[in-house]
Amino acid sequence: MSERKKISIVVPFYREGAGVDLFYAATCPVFTQIPALDFEVVCIDDGSDDDTLQRLIAIAEGDHRYRVIELSRNFGKEAALTAGLDAATGDAVIPIDADLQDPPELIPEMINEWLKGAEIVLARRVDRASDSVLKRTTAEMFYGLHNRLADIQIPANVGDFRLLDRIVVNALKQFPERQRFMKGLFAWVGFRTVTIDYVRNPRVAGVTKFSGWKLWNFALEGITSFSAAPLKFWSYLGGLGALATFSYALFIVTRTLIYGIDVPGYASLLVAVLFFGSLQLVSVGMLGEYIGRIYIETKHRPLYLIRKIHGTKQ
Ligand code: UDP
Ligand code: MG
Repeated sequence: MSERKKISIVVPFYREGAGVDLFYAATCPVFTQIPALDFEVVCIDDGSDDDTLQRLIAIAEGDHRYRVIELSRNFGKEAALTAGLDAATGDAVIPIDADLQDPPELIPEMINEWLKGAEIVLARRVDRASDSVLKRTTAEMFYGLHNRLADIQIPANVGDFRLLDRIVVNALKQFPERQRFMKGLFAWVGFRTVTIDYVRNPRVAGVTKFSGWKLWNFALEGITSFSAAPLKFWSYLGGLGALATFSYALFIVTRTLIYGIDVPGYASLLVAVLFFGSLQLVSVGMLGEYIGRIYIETKHRPLYLIRKIHGTKQ
């Protein structure tokens, strides 16, 4: 008997009660479309306080392909994804959003590329019309800034929706870091990558979990995880400031020597003091961003805690 290959679909769910059944209905036809492969669906309930978990368990009871990992509280999408990658047993793993913004119809195409030899199949959004103008422009700015600062290039407009071969998943599991900027890690590991394009749909149900503030912190996380440039920036700015100050001091001393003491100068003094004072605060704040992350890393806390696993163990 030839060995059948298995695909793991990893889905983080947080307050997606209204979307659970829709997700199930949309993914099932995709699996039956590819009878040559086995599928498992690893659902992670990321501490939802609505009926998401109950609905997921009901599905898992009726469908042996479904497994539900119940986390002890909300750990955030990155941790939920990590829990899913750890639990997945397939030869390839596909993380996908629960809100059907990542179209499941793309899965057969991804699998095709994988069978042809790709180790990572990226799904790139060609049209982000479903996102607001603000989200699109800030996303663009983030990718631009990140890729200029960091050594690792994150492909723009690629989310977590992608196919990962088992070797890639095993590579990712070796990462000991607590703070996981998945997009960056996915890019860091390398491997043979193929990109396919798709149009991103609007959410089928529920609301987005990523507010402006959360996205800002996410962007900070991304940049601090993969670049030390913001740390170095201040030495150069300080150097330039010192040079300017030195020239200005030289100018004042010469002027005083030639024209005598000039009493006024209060305004320029205050401006200089305030300017350098605030620069110092910003640079200390930037240091704080990194130190805070070092602090969290050194505690080595687990990334997530599981309360229970529901559904057949495979
Ligand atoms: N999600 C999660 N934990 C969280 C926030 C979100 O597991 O703390 C899941 C959510 O259920 C969804 C996916 O992450 O499956 C993407 O979230 P969302 O659709 O809100 O993000 P957006 O598409 O707006 O960027
Ligand atoms: Mg979404």
